[in-house]
Amino acid sequence: MCGIVGYVGKKNCLKTIIDGIKALEYRGYDSVGVAYFRDDDISIIKDKGRIMDLEKKIDTNIETKIGIGHTRWATHGEPSKVNAHPHRVNKITLVHNGIIENYDEIRTELIKYGYEFKSDTDTEVLCAYIDYLYSKNNDMIKSLSMLKDKIKGSYATCILCSDDKEHLYIVKKGSPLILGTSNDEYIIASDIAAIIDKTKRYMILDDDEIGIISGNGYEICDSDLKVIKKDILTFDKNIDKISKDGYDHFMLKEIYEEDDLIKKTLSYYLNNDLLKDLPDLSKYKEIYIVGCGSAYNAGLVGKYYIENYLNIPVYVEIASEFRYKKLFINDESLVIAISQSGETADTIEAVNIAKKYKAKTIGIVNTYKSTIARISDEVIYINAGIEVAVATTKAYSLQVLYLILLSLRNKGIDKNIINKISNDIKEVYEIDYKELAKKISNKEHIFFIGRGIDYYLAIEGSLKLKEISYIHAECYAAGELKHGTISLIDKGTPVISVITNKDISSKTISNIKEVKARGAYVILVCTDDIVVDKDIYDDIIIVPSDEVMSPILSIIGLQLLSYYVAKDKGCDIDKPRNLAKSVTVE
Ligand code: GLU
Repeated sequence: MCGIVGYVGKKNCLKTIIDGIKALEYRGYDSVGVAYFRDDDISIIKDKGRIMDLEKKIDTNIETKIGIGHTRWATHGEPSKVNAHPHRVNKITLVHNGIIENYDEIRTELIKYGYEFKSDTDTEVLCAYIDYLYSKNNDMIKSLSMLKDKIKGSYATCILCSDDKEHLYIVKKGSPLILGTSNDEYIIASDIAAIIDKTKRYMILDDDEIGIISGNGYEICDSDLKVIKKDILTFDKNIDKISKDGYDHFMLKEIYEEDDLIKKTLSYYLNNDLLKDLPDLSKYKEIYIVGCGSAYNAGLVGKYYIENYLNIPVYVEIASEFRYKKLFINDESLVIAISQSGETADTIEAVNIAKKYKAKTIGIVNTYKSTIARISDEVIYINAGIEVAVATTKAYSLQVLYLILLSLRNKGIDKNIINKISNDIKEVYEIDYKELAKKISNKEHIFFIGRGIDYYLAIEGSLKLKEISYIHAECYAAGELKHGTISLIDKGTPVISVITNKDISSKTISNIKEVKARGAYVILVCTDDIVVDKDIYDDIIIVPSDEVMSPILSIIGLQLLSYYVAKDKGCDIDKPRNLAKSVTVE
């Protein structure tokens, strides 16, 4: 969600900003814009839509040393040119990531002082408020230090002041911001992907810190205006070049990466006897898993494993609910926070709350040194590499894999699984999903059902389909369907039924018969050890069975089915409408 890029330096400023924006595209956005100093004035080019269209309007040969860029994921006001960032109010031009919660109140106040607003955004109010402060004290740093007393909500912002064409100003609270440094140039960005082509050296801004950056150096101060020395980190991991490598979409490429990633992860822990390096969950009285979207769904699968192998109750909570509900956690509880980006605003807050209750926290994240990685007591990096497609596939599977490893840390896992899972995944890749996809791509509603672990997998399968194909897909615990929802089953309504758990397969089969009797078009996704009569389904996807890994195998099948349905419909698979990858607002 939302990307910020800022540049100060002697090299090609606008090209660097555009490249940075492109590197952040994967986070999801609906509008894009840049602003830069041209002679003594600031030019702004922005619009709704993609960087590849806006780029045509930007002359990258223009001499400029300082500029800002933004991809917007609208929270206040529709995606439109006027609402796109950068926003300018008098002397202040800025890009912003986050939400100003009390923008209405500040807007009313500023209108009394004569301010007028062109857009519907909370960001323009932030911009006007900084202009107001600056008009009073003529000091940018002082003005920015006053924000924390007034602004409620979250902001990471990169600012140009028309009185000062040598400096870029930054300040943040809640939303992520990093500063990349190299000899004679500085790049500000929402995440490492935007700076890595220029430099591997960077620092992470903490809340309420303020930065002033020129081509000759930078200064970071705390909110009391005391200059502070920040640690410079070196990003020593390889970031794969962002390329589709011949695949039609990043999503497909990432699904095909799952084989190697899963094999590598298992080899690392099992061949080197390192399972015991993972945290021991068996010492906790109760475990909470918090996450949003697919991360929450991964938590559900984790619940199944942890409860079954460790006999500890696990409560899986949607992070945005967890943060506002009555909690019963204490210093004997463990809270596991799952987030691909490590910057999911609701999940970050859930960790902060857990810490207030003295619960122990473990972050399971993909992004190195992200906020959740830094604030959790322990961190597990899933090392999935950059995931570009907005709809997660490989990160979800690795989150599930790590939860499986955590649940089996003490019991151990047979090494033979490494080759077996890899062969099994290849078999899942081989299945022909295209013909089946064609049969359901014109449907408006699809149901998913399953029991126990299969219910949890079906939830993720239905989310994947909704996200990328825009088909309304609802998931039900198979036994629950007849308590109301079965009224929606009509002749030809697709019902995708997941069965990987032999123990309760007969119960799910009974539920499938109920929908079949009402005309449903049943697609069965099951493991090869499930015995079913041919007449209970219309189509079938059979994946290999594995005592431990069946869930991962069936989810890859469901990911591929969703992919081909969306492809058949001609959807923008890697960047589905309205969705953002890294949801940095509440
Ligand atoms: N709340 C701001 C807006 O709607 C910023 C959203 C974002 O983080 O992209 O413009």
